[in-house]
Amino acid sequence: MYPETILPIAAHIPHAGTVVPEAVRDQFLPWAGELWREIAMVTDWYTDELFRIPGIAVTQTPISRVVVDLERYADDSLEKNAVYGMGVIYTRNTLGEQIRTELSEPERGLLLDNYYRPWHLQLELNVVQQLARWGHCLLLDCHSFPDEPFAHEADHGQARPDICLGLCGNTTQWLRESCLQLFQQRGYSVSVDFPYSGCLVPGKLQGDLRVPAIMIEINRRLYLKPANRECYRLGNVPVRLGSFDRLRNDIWSIILHLAQEAECRGAVRGKATLN
Ligand SMILES: [Zn+2]
Repeated sequence: MYPETILPIAAHIPHAGTVVPEAVRDQFLPWAGELWREIAMVTDWYTDELFRIPGIAVTQTPISRVVVDLERYADDSLEKNAVYGMGVIYTRNTLGEQIRTELSEPERGLLLDNYYRPWHLQLELNVVQQLARWGHCLLLDCHSFPDEPFAHEADHGQARPDICLGLCGNTTQWLRESCLQLFQQRGYSVSVDFPYSGCLVPGKLQGDLRVPAIMIEINRRLYLKPANRECYRLGNVPVRLGSFDRLRNDIWSIILHLAQEAECRGAVRGKATLN
């Protein structure tokens, strides 16, 4: 049974986890401390707290993205990060170094069966349940990102914004504009589809106007003490800044505004009137 929700919002938070399950540890090269450093660099730290408003439907996992990256395409031929060894199943770290043994196709299939597909089914179920309950659902793809690009990323030398919004076919005009303005009104710099783009929506719900969706990415400089790779000994986690609570309050307030606007724009049960 899934808990009742009291708001027509579904958030998915794919990158907050840091766990490497015992069953797959043998796949990683024997460098526990180094692996932890990589996990520390790529985890969307504390996004579970930043976006987890009580009463909404949340899809999240304790598993680290270094095991399976739930936000990538399962098919490497569609996934642009696969050429860097950072497709759905990471084989290299953000420095370009190998972190995993060569996996057989069955091993790869097992990872997708055990972690990737269940997560996507859970996400779809959460949204479908919200639709059944409310007739509409604001879908949020929730992330954070480092202030400095990784080696393989394209935006070196360009200033990264406080907030990055990612768009997709389910991002209505009002949602894009309202989200942009609500962050700007609170003093944040905002970019659209920069440095990251897109927004994940379950396949069956793509184009469904009852499910307006947007990706919200928070620059980690807003809430974490600056730290480089070498700071992270095994198990060390980033230190939060005192501004964390204010940021979380702003995010929650903005999301609640957006949900209210979705409601006001004629979200009649069973009718696609959200654009
Ligand atoms: Zn992320």
